[in-house]
Amino acid sequence: MSVTVVGSLNEDVLVAVERLPGRGETVVGRGAVLAAGGKGANQAAAAGRLSAAAVTMVGRVGDDPAGERQVAALTGAGVDTALVRRTAGTPTGSATIPVEDDSGENLIVVVPGANAALTPADVDVPAVRDAAVVLLQLEVPPATVQAAAEAASGTVVLTPAPPVPLPPALLRRVAVLVPNEHELAALAGAGPGARSPAELAGLARTLGLPAVVVTLGARGALVVPGDGPVWLQAPPPVEAVDTTGAGDCFTGALGAALARGAELTTAVREAVAAAALSTTGAGARAALPDAGAVRDVLP
Ligand code: ADP
Repeated sequence: MSVTVVGSLNEDVLVAVERLPGRGETVVGRGAVLAAGGKGANQAAAAGRLSAAAVTMVGRVGDDPAGERQVAALTGAGVDTALVRRTAGTPTGSATIPVEDDSGENLIVVVPGANAALTPADVDVPAVRDAAVVLLQLEVPPATVQAAAEAASGTVVLTPAPPVPLPPALLRRVAVLVPNEHELAALAGAGPGARSPAELAGLARTLGLPAVVVTLGARGALVVPGDGPVWLQAPPPVEAVDTTGAGDCFTGALGAALARGAELTTAVREAVAAAALSTTGAGARAALPDAGAVRDVLP
């Protein structure tokens, strides 16, 4: 059973700097590394690597070399890109990211580019209507996210990132919400700060959804069903070197497992394992595991 991702494709431009620039300041970077990115495309690539079934990306890139690179990267991950349309006169979305040598801290400037041109008509397609699972994030226009959620007949999984208030009409269509702790706190109208699993579950339940899965970084993920017991899945031991995109790998893996017909608990166990493995290489896509690698680390 198939997975369709509706969302962003970006080209990330990573620039190593000794020190992040302050306001009005110029610093010299040591060359730029291009990396495939965008939350939607990252999720699709993760699902494509893991899934024996069809994984389709619906999105837009510019009619430019960056767009060709993003499409090629997805095709290489086993994703069907026939519904990634080229938009003339608009650049492919990009994220320029200076990364400070010692601290690893970064700044991010996102240019949505062609992602902002994805329309409700673009998602009115059988790949969205008929997919077993539709993965959505918030890096394309809200009206398009809403249209995709309404068109979908399968399970709608929403990553509420970047965090913005979610209209009730969208929440009504969501079967599984996958926020990290910060996104959950923002959505529930709570302040920042560390919270216990019980406190997080309390916040998640205020949203009134069938299921919320909260990603907790190195602690794994917390499953909060609408009713029934809360459950924390810890990751297998890994040597994490770069957690960029771990959340996207998590959601792609979750979607692949749900589309296969797995229960939410099984899907979360696999997603936690896949996301942990994805942290063992640099960048969002360098260490995306296949199904065999995930099986090998499952208890
Ligand atoms: P986001 O990147 O969206 O903020 P998280 O940091 O919560 O998301 O990470 C998503 C998932 O990736 C986690 O639920 C976990 O499964 C996995 N993960 C992230 N960091 C680590 C780590 N250091 N070790 C093992 N797994 C990790």
